[in-house]
Amino acid sequence: MSCPFCNNKSKIIAIEKKETTTYRMHKCISCNKKFNSVEKLLLRNTMVIKRDNRREKFEEKKLLNSLSIATSKRPIPTNSLNAILEDITQTINDSDINEVSTKIISKMVISHLSRLDLISYVRYASTYQDFISIDQMSHELQELSSNPANNHQQQKLFNEQYI
Ligand SMILES: [Zn+2]
Repeated sequence: MSCPFCNNKSKIIAIEKKETTTYRMHKCISCNKKFNSVEKLLLRNTMVIKRDNRREKFEEKKLLNSLSIATSKRPIPTNSLNAILEDITQTINDSDINEVSTKIISKMVISHLSRLDLISYVRYASTYQDFISIDQMSHELQELSSNPANNHQQQKLFNEQYI
């Protein structure tokens, strides 16, 4: 690190570490002045607020697990799941929040799944039914089924199994 007084080289004469922070004392080899620097590890440790208000570290692994359960045995490529996972993780990381509720995460998952696969959507939404009202769900399903771009095979399966 160059000396802030004369811009010449300095040497480190002491190091102290406290958790994720490193303090270094430098001494200029030219003017002999001492100065300190602080190096801090920037960790994004987003916490998830659970339904019972407990907090736990946000882990992609857990999110992927809930996605895998909802989409199990559905013809969904792993790529699609990874894309959802990436998008949600990115959204959380890009926002300046340190805490996110499971409710918000569920809503993001639900919005992705509703576009991807009806069965997975219903499976996931019914797990989190206290977050999503029956009215809201049937409204969304109606919108999905009135969308001509929707996969007919999927719609058929949905009718057979769930209505
Ligand atoms: Zn100096």
